Amino acid sequence: MAENESTKVCPLCAETIKAAAKVCPHCRHWQPRKWSFDNPALLQSLASLVIAAAIFGAIAGLGYFLEHLIGPKRDFAPYQNQIKVTSSEAGFRMFGSNLTVFVVGTLTNQTDFAWKNLGLEARLFDKNGKLIDVIQASDSSYNGVVVLPHAEAGFKIQSKATKDESDYVTNKVFVGTAKDFNAWP
Ligand SMILES: [Zn+2]
Repeated sequence: MAENESTKVCPLCAETIKAAAKVCPHCRHWQPRKWSFDNPALLQSLASLVIAAAIFGAIAGLGYFLEHLIGPKRDFAPYQNQIKVTSSEAGFRMFGSNLTVFVVGTLTNQTDFAWKNLGLEARLFDKNGKLIDVIQASDSSYNGVVVLPHAEAGFKIQSKATKDESDYVTNKVFVGTAKDFNAWP
């Protein structure tokens, strides 16, 4: 070892070695050098940190995705009276020996949001204003048309009639439920 070279003592084997040595020439011990990327122990811990960060990021990303997908959605109740049925008309048709009553109409969405799976209910009255029949969306093939913000949509709901055609005089349609268009499913 040259005289002008500075030296240190290997912490493992206690041999005197060059101060710049990264590995002890006697025992092959890696010399403690905090920020050397040649130190495999340091590299290993850095790699662990990177992997941990990647896993954390993936979990956080998945969480965000799931929250967006199935997280809490806009409740329809405060907006219920802002979806207005603008027209509705009852119609009748015989299917075999069964009389079917339809109610077709239009509605407008006055909210700033899109809604789907509208739960419609038509109440049908006789000439005295007595409620004689109710048709709900679930009774029919109506599968919940989407209504866009500040747009109009048509609807048709139907059910087997429980009275004679001549008994049905008036009707009124309500939108009882709806789902946030962005909700899943
Ligand atoms: Zn050594």
